[in-house]
Amino acid sequence: MSDTLFTKIIRREIPADIVYEDDDVLAFRDINPQAPVHVLFIPKQPIETLDDATDKHAGLLGQLMLAAARYAREQGFAENGYRVVMNCRDDGGQSVYHIHLHLLAGRRLAWPPG
Ligand code: 5GP
Repeated sequence: MSDTLFTKIIRREIPADIVYEDDDVLAFRDINPQAPVHVLFIPKQPIETLDDATDKHAGLLGQLMLAAARYAREQGFAENGYRVVMNCRDDGGQSVYHIHLHLLAGRRLAWPPG
């Protein structure tokens, strides 16, 4: 898999507003926010799409979800609610082929998405 801009963010080769990091996960603000809070949670290990994930990635995918939930709680918007979403390939709206969980909060979100 070739480098994506998220790999470059992990390596600090391009700047990002990082809000959380541990050994396996990095989270930073989306450059084009779709809500008052829009943070991307990514695994440091590159996986192109959710469709490329296998059983061996189950723990890592869980870590992304739990990191997002913990961040929401710590930042005080868990009570009002939020959304996490992962887009997969073209029809899903994926533009960066390094899986990432979008965390959106701070306004009432419409359903279904467009
Ligand atoms: P996708 O469309 O793949 O689900 O989400 C990719 C997200 O990455 C988009 O919401 C887009 O705004 C965000 N993004 C694209 N380029 C950059 C960048 O250079 N920095 C940051 N922080 N976010 C980016």
